[in-house]
Amino acid sequence: EEVVNRIAAGEIIQRPANALKELIENSLDAKSTNIIVTVKAGGLKYLQIQDNGTGIRKDNLDIVCERFTTSKLQQYEDLRDISTYGFRGEALASISHIAHLTILTKTAAEKCAFKASYENGKLKGAPKPCAGNNGTQITVEDLFYNVIARKKALRSPSEEYSHIMEVVGSYAIHNHNVGFTLKKFGEAADVKTPVKSSVIENVRIIYGNAIARELMEITLEEEKLKLKISGYVTNVNYSHKGTMLLFINHRLVDSLSIRKAVDSIYSTYLPKNAHSFVYLSIELDPRNIDVNVHPTKHEVHFLYEEQIIDKIKECIEAKLLSCNS
Ligand code: ADP
Ligand code: MG
Repeated sequence: EEVVNRIAAGEIIQRPANALKELIENSLDAKSTNIIVTVKAGGLKYLQIQDNGTGIRKDNLDIVCERFTTSKLQQYEDLRDISTYGFRGEALASISHIAHLTILTKTAAEKCAFKASYENGKLKGAPKPCAGNNGTQITVEDLFYNVIARKKALRSPSEEYSHIMEVVGSYAIHNHNVGFTLKKFGEAADVKTPVKSSVIENVRIIYGNAIARELMEITLEEEKLKLKISGYVTNVNYSHKGTMLLFINHRLVDSLSIRKAVDSIYSTYLPKNAHSFVYLSIELDPRNIDVNVHPTKHEVHFLYEEQIIDKIKECIEAKLLSCNS
């Protein structure tokens, strides 16, 4: 069973950035306003996330890394919503099967923090009382130490670090009221966004002023599809690669069909090879998101894809048309 769990975990978590994304989601769910990520060797050796959220109660520390343990069910009136997208209680369990996981956490109600270590979904020994601030610090060490095939398939630490940077940067832009810091262990921060910032300010910090100053806001709502689109796009030809940040229901995802649609708009309205910066936040009925795609998988599929993509095109096109005519 252990081997099966490990293989399954290695399928879900393919690289350090995947694990980090899940950990950031958890910190955001815990209402954190400040998140600090520290890594060694592109997160392969060491990946730590410190938040100032609600913390985990001591009595829950023995179960948080068991599969399907989640504290998030009661928020959902409609049980169907749970199985559709996220909230499966698998992230910490998966990570604990393929890394050494340590949680240091303190809730406001407790007098001191507790530290707990996990292996293969199980708590190792009793949680130890220790000093600590309110919030949670999760440390993932030696990721894939027991998954030789995965370890071999991975690229260099610097490439893994750039994926981590992308995840932190994207969440910082999307959650501009949360401060994000990314640093290599013992070094100065590579990314640091203030608490209570703005999309434009965070794009400036992460992608530079040339892009930030060209951002144009887009919004669109559609009753029938229960669809909300918001975001920022540029109308500028950049020398570097085009960037698309896509959030669906506040999770960073990828969608080949949306990406293609966006590319086709830019190739229509801007000179050939023009590169773009597009940040899209799409909210849709969670029941319309494909249940067969595991929530930790990057690529997402949804119902009414064609109509939704038409709407996305419509609002980006309107914006580009207004400044290119
Ligand atoms: P899920 O997020 O689907 O509930 P996870 O495996 O990601 O499952 O996390 C399991 C549980 O651990 C969460 O439901 C939550 O109660 C707790 N938890 C994890 N990370 C944090 C955190 N940073 N702050 C507070 N609670 C957390
Ligand atoms: Mg989670």
